[in-house]
Amino acid sequence: MNVKRTLGLWMDSGTASNSDDAGIDWIRILPFIGLHVACLAIPWVGFSWVAVVVFLASFWIRMFAITAFYHRYFAHRTFKVGRITQFLFGVLGATATQRGPLWWAAHHRLHHKQADTEHDPHAPRHGFLWSHMGWFLSRKHLATETDQIPDLMVYPELRWLDRFDLIVPVIYAACMFALGACLARWAPGLGTDGWQMLVWGYFLSTVVLIHSTLLINSMAHAVGTRRYETRDDSRNNWLLALLTLGEGWHNNHHHYPGSARQGFYWWEIDISYYVLCMMARLGLVRDLKKVPANVRQARQVRDLASR
Ligand SMILES: [Zn+2]
Ligand SMILES: [Zn+2]
Repeated sequence: MNVKRTLGLWMDSGTASNSDDAGIDWIRILPFIGLHVACLAIPWVGFSWVAVVVFLASFWIRMFAITAFYHRYFAHRTFKVGRITQFLFGVLGATATQRGPLWWAAHHRLHHKQADTEHDPHAPRHGFLWSHMGWFLSRKHLATETDQIPDLMVYPELRWLDRFDLIVPVIYAACMFALGACLARWAPGLGTDGWQMLVWGYFLSTVVLIHSTLLINSMAHAVGTRRYETRDDSRNNWLLALLTLGEGWHNNHHHYPGSARQGFYWWEIDISYYVLCMMARLGLVRDLKKVPANVRQARQVRDLASR
């Protein structure tokens, strides 16, 4: 184990390479472990209602950034944005502490191409824990699969964001501490401070956010219903859809990944799509792609059953 090189990867993931070894490099994943351990400080930093509000806001805003920007924009290009907005979306997504937008999008495109086959980076068929988090903690998927994202690699600002993927989360955590420190000084009646806001607004919120996102790779390929006869095990799961702002309609999504809308019917709540529609009205995004009516009707499981 090359400790110096591993520590270097924390600062600059551009030097990473993928290995056939599915083992875990425990030094490299210390920051991931540290995120979880830091949550144990809750009894020490205490509780306040403003900390709970910030915890929830930090969770929902960054969940939206992951589903709408990392997933529906960077991975699937289901709508269009200007170049500056694209970078800002990448920065907001990076606060979620799920690596850079290129790494995320590249592995996700690989997942769609080979979903639930032996080449899928995170198929539950290879073990639930592997599909949930073993895959990205292993040495197999450390580097960005650049051949999957030629359309994104042309932007140097995105390559920079992807390479130094720890910078944005550290700044975001520092902002949370600063917010708590400011509130302690100017609104002491709220009963919070820098450390409490750091733990609730960054560490706890980020851990819940990461595992909620990961449930789409694990649970949404194992638990739920199947409307479409896709080649994979993807499922629609309304509970996951509520938790992840629409990502739980995962069987819909595997049937037609090119749609910005993943809840294909009005009763399939897809909050990310509703917010994207509002952003389109404000001119922040454009050309939101939808599922064509004939595609929405095609390959439905009940049609196959009635033959
Ligand atoms: Zn999937
Ligand atoms: Zn997808």
